[in-house]
Amino acid sequence: MENHANSYVSACPVGCNTTLEDTAIQLAEGVLRRCTACGQLLSSASEARYTETMAQFNAADFNAPQGRELERRQAVARTRLARIATLLGKTPGNMHVVDVGCSRGQFVAAAIAAGYRAEGVEPAPRIAEAARADGVPVRSGLLEEQHFADSSLDALTLFEVIEHLRTPLPLLAECRRVLKPGGILLISTGNAASWTAAAMGAHWDYLDMERDGGHISFYNPRSMAKLAATAGFEVARIDTARVKFHDKENTPRWCYALGKLAAEILNLPARLSGRGHDMLAYLRKPSAG
Ligand SMILES: [Zn+2]
Repeated sequence: MENHANSYVSACPVGCNTTLEDTAIQLAEGVLRRCTACGQLLSSASEARYTETMAQFNAADFNAPQGRELERRQAVARTRLARIATLLGKTPGNMHVVDVGCSRGQFVAAAIAAGYRAEGVEPAPRIAEAARADGVPVRSGLLEEQHFADSSLDALTLFEVIEHLRTPLPLLAECRRVLKPGGILLISTGNAASWTAAAMGAHWDYLDMERDGGHISFYNPRSMAKLAATAGFEVARIDTARVKFHDKENTPRWCYALGKLAAEILNLPARLSGRGHDMLAYLRKPSAG
C-alpha cells in the first residue's frame, strides 16, 4: 500500500463503507485506487494538484466547438433530450431542463432551439459570462446557490461533471430536491469498466489530469447504480457506447487505422454488454418521494 495521507479523495464517493485498495495502475499523481465493494476507481492526487488542474475550466475560450463538431454535438444533445422526453412522457414545450456545469452552454442552446425551456448553471465565472455574451441563459455559481423551488424542474443534466467531484452526494441531494417527482437526472461520464479503459490501462486518456483537468473519480455501471440508490434515485436506464483504443495524435497511421477498425467492430457488443466508453445514466426521482 502506498501512503495516501495527502490524497484529496479518501473514501468511496457513492456510499460504500469499505476500504480502498491500490490497483496496478500508476499515474503521475500516484497509484490509482479501487473501492472493493463497487469498483469505483479513485485518483491519489493531492488537493493542490486537483485545484491546479481544475483551473483550465475558467478560460473563456474553453470548449467552444465550431462547424461540424458543433453540429455533431447539437445532434447528440437532441437525441439525449428526446430520450428524457420519452422517459417523462412529456413534449419539449412542457419541459423545464437545467444543465448543471453547462460550460459555454451549447447543450442549453441546442435544447432551446429544439423547443425546450432550458437554462444552464456554470460555476466558472468567465465561461458563464462568455455563454451569456452568446445569448445563452446561464446562471453563475453552483446549483445549490440558485435556490430553485422544491419539485420545480422536469429534468437536470450533469455532463462530464461527476468525475470531478470528491463528494457527489450533496449535489445529487440538491438535484433530488429541485426535481419534480418522476423527474429525470441525466449523468454522463466515462465508463471505468469499458473495454477502452481495460485495454488502455494507465494510458486511458480519461485518467490524465493534465489533459482532462480535475478527473479524480471514475464510475462504472455498478457504482453509478449504487450512487443512485444512496442518493434516493431509481435507475431508469444506464447506456454505454463507443470503443476507442488510440489517440490520433500519438499513434502511427496504420496502427490507428487498425485500432479504429477493431473499435468499430466492437461498438455494438460493447453497447450490448455495458462495456462502451461513454456512460449515460438516466436516473428518476421516485414518484412517491
Ligand atoms: Zn464503492
